[in-house]
Amino acid sequence: MALPQARGRARRPGLRDAALRVTLLGTGSADGWPNPWCSCASCADARLTGAARRPTSALVDDALLLDLSPAPPPADVLLGGVHTVLVTHDHPDHCAPLVLLARQWVRREQPLTVAGPPPVLDAVRPWLAPGDPVELVALAPGDRWERHGYAVRALAAAHEVPTLLYDVSGPDGGRLLYATDTGPLPEETVEAVRGADLDVVLLEETFGDHLGHGTGHLDLATFPEQLDRLRAVGAVTRRTDVVAVHLSHHNPPAARLAARLAACGARLVPDGARVGAGRAAVPRGA
Ligand SMILES: [Zn+2]
Ligand SMILES: [Zn+2]
Repeated sequence: MALPQARGRARRPGLRDAALRVTLLGTGSADGWPNPWCSCASCADARLTGAARRPTSALVDDALLLDLSPAPPPADVLLGGVHTVLVTHDHPDHCAPLVLLARQWVRREQPLTVAGPPPVLDAVRPWLAPGDPVELVALAPGDRWERHGYAVRALAAAHEVPTLLYDVSGPDGGRLLYATDTGPLPEETVEAVRGADLDVVLLEETFGDHLGHGTGHLDLATFPEQLDRLRAVGAVTRRTDVVAVHLSHHNPPAARLAARLAACGARLVPDGARVGAGRAAVPRGA
C-alpha cells in the first residue's frame, strides 16, 4: 500500500543534502560503551581509544529531541531551541525525566511538548512543576502528528514495553527513521515506510555477536536482515545513510564492527557526529 506523502516531504531542488541535520547525542546502549564495570576486550578497546558512547539519543535541527537520555549531551550541544521531544519508551536509558528538571531550573518560558507512549508521560508528569510550559502528548503506533512543520509518524516496535519508533519528515524535506529499541521490525512498520526513500536511518544494533540474548533488540545477525527488508520496500535506498546505534560492548571492537557494518551498507559514527546535512560524519567540535 502506498502511503500519502507526509507534509513537507517534497524536496526543493538543491536542499536534498541539507534538509535534516541530525546530531547523534549518544550512540550507546543503556550501560554505555565502555560499560564502566566491564574489562572485556571491547570495553578495553573503547577505553584505549577514548570512544565513549552515551545512551542513544539524537537531536534534529536543534529543534526536535529524540529520547531523554540520562547522559548530558556533548558539551557543545545546546538544547535551548528544542520545542518537541519524542520519547520511544519508558526504559531509563530513554526516559530520564531529570533532563526536564534541568530545563525547569533555567526557567525556560518557551513551550515544550513531550510525546510518547502513555507510560512515558506517566514517568515524566511527576517531574513537572505547576506552570511548567510543558505539554504531554500520548502517541500510539500509526499516529500521525505535526509540530512546527515536522511531520511525525509513530511506528510499532518489538520491545518488552510499549515502544514507538519515529518516522520524521522535516519542514524543508529530509526524512529520518529513528528505530530503537526494537527486535526484528513488525511487518506493519516495514509496510508503513514502503517507498519512503529515507535520508537517514538510525537503527539499533545492541548485541553484536551475542545472538542468544532473547530480547527485543537487534544483533549482527538480525540487523542486516532488517536492512534487507527495508531495502525490499524502497525505504532504504542506495543514498540512505544508515547508522547503527544503541551499541553495547557485546559488539566487536570499533574497527572490526565498522567493517562488519560496512559490509551490510551501514556505518558507525562517534557520539557528537552530525549526519544528514551533506552526508558527512563530522563530530562537532572535533
Ligand atoms: Zn535502550
Ligand atoms: Zn529498552
